[in-house]
Amino acid sequence: MSRKADSSVAEKSAPGLSARLIDKFDAFLATKTLKLTSQRREIIEKILAMPRHFTADDLVDSFVGQRPRVSKATIYRTLGLLHEAAVLEEHNFGEAHKLYEITEGREHHDHLSCTRCHKIIEFFSEEMEAMQDRIAAKLGFHPTHHSQKIYGLCRECWRETQTKA
Ligand SMILES: [Zn+2]
Ligand SMILES: [Zn+2]
Repeated sequence: MSRKADSSVAEKSAPGLSARLIDKFDAFLATKTLKLTSQRREIIEKILAMPRHFTADDLVDSFVGQRPRVSKATIYRTLGLLHEAAVLEEHNFGEAHKLYEITEGREHHDHLSCTRCHKIIEFFSEEMEAMQDRIAAKLGFHPTHHSQKIYGLCRECWRETQTKA
């Protein structure tokens, strides 16, 4: 049932995605009387080149050595704004492991999270989606969104823990 077995590596961005994200972010910033500065635009371009699921520190690292300098504070603040603007989704995989992901133009999916190497594996299950809807309906609940996370060991980590025993 999994559409994507392992898609932790970024695919080529769909054409026009960058422009779409920038327009969306620009419209959001306007509501806050903020401007789409060249630094904010640059941060979006960097994000588009990131692996599909990335941490704030991964993004900060991608700016290392770059001139003019983009401060860590600006990167963190912009990530927060991008999340607020719904350009990015924020996933909490345990306390110190927050990941960001561009969801624009992507279909809904859920995640498996390896607690050893932090690999993220995406999956989609029609069956599971339908089951969640049934559970909610039975409880008179009207779901707006959900995020399924399954924690454990990926195939490689599982194998390593078995052979080292
Ligand atoms: Zn692993
Ligand atoms: Zn994902």
